[in-house]
Amino acid sequence: MSGIPPLLRGMDAVVAALVAPDGRLLDANAGFLRLLGAGASVGAPVAAFFRNPTFIQLHTRAAEAASPPMPLQVGSGTAVGWTLHGSITRSGQDVLLVAEHDVLSLERLAEEALRLNEQLAEAQRTLHRQNRQLQSSEQSFRELSGTDVLTGLANRRRLDEQLEHHLDRHRRYADPLSVIAVDIDNFKQVNDTYGHAAGEEVIRRVGLALAAGARECDLVARIGGEEFVVMLPSTSLEAAFTAAERLVHSLRDMIVAPLEEAVTVSCGVSTCTGGDTPELLLHRADAALYVAKRGGRDRAVSQPAP
Ligand code: GH3
Ligand code: MG
Ligand code: MG
Repeated sequence: MSGIPPLLRGMDAVVAALVAPDGRLLDANAGFLRLLGAGASVGAPVAAFFRNPTFIQLHTRAAEAASPPMPLQVGSGTAVGWTLHGSITRSGQDVLLVAEHDVLSLERLAEEALRLNEQLAEAQRTLHRQNRQLQSSEQSFRELSGTDVLTGLANRRRLDEQLEHHLDRHRRYADPLSVIAVDIDNFKQVNDTYGHAAGEEVIRRVGLALAAGARECDLVARIGGEEFVVMLPSTSLEAAFTAAERLVHSLRDMIVAPLEEAVTVSCGVSTCTGGDTPELLLHRADAALYVAKRGGRDRAVSQPAP
């Protein structure tokens, strides 16, 4: 009785098995045992493993003198099986199977895997795009909702709303309202020397310092690149000027790595009149700021007394 050729014993890609007429596995190589799955061993019943042709059909064909190589579908339980390509011969009463994996179907599987991979990559690209859209809608939402994304302070939109509200109060109750326009000194140089990211960090830190120095009822807004406005309700021009000088002074000590020099700001202060609009009030603060810049920066200047 001839069994499994010794050459095939250790092979994985080739399947060899010797099966008794009652379907019991008499011998098998590594490839066949691997297909049977964990726990498979010689002696196990394997007739059900042969699906198409069935084991009975195989047994009959094996009796034919020269059974040509044919496709064989095998598999355990309800799991999707494999397609093999091989020959069946008789070895005494037993059936000897020698087969290899269907190379064409493996190639088809590889192509399918490639196609799925491409689909996955496309899905990831779509996800990435949608994420970016989501971020940009979040940014628009925050802008609409009145928040500056970089600093978390109010934005120009919210400042204008609040100025309108307090100008209205001034007209009704003569409640004073002052503003401080704040601009970081020589900021272009910070960007040029330390890069844009360091510049953004300076903007963020100045924003934090302004917020820390403000009262509960004040509103600190970032209205442009390195420009801020502090709105001070119920505050006279003189009191606002004092607050501005305090801000200028407190910022002198602020160190923002990797800058070696201190960050300084200039401030322009203005107070409202009965006929003011937010634009007019801010324009006067800006004019005072311009005087502070011309005067050498790192200082606060008030508009001429109204
Ligand atoms: P001055 O003391 O006269 O205010 O000088 P400056 O350099 O601060 O003023 P200038 O207006 O000449 O330059 C402001 C620079 O701020 C120009 C621009 O490159 C930079 N900038 C504006 N917005 C942003 C921003 O959001 N992030 C960063 N990193 N830089 C900004
Ligand atoms: Mg500026
Ligand atoms: Mg500036």
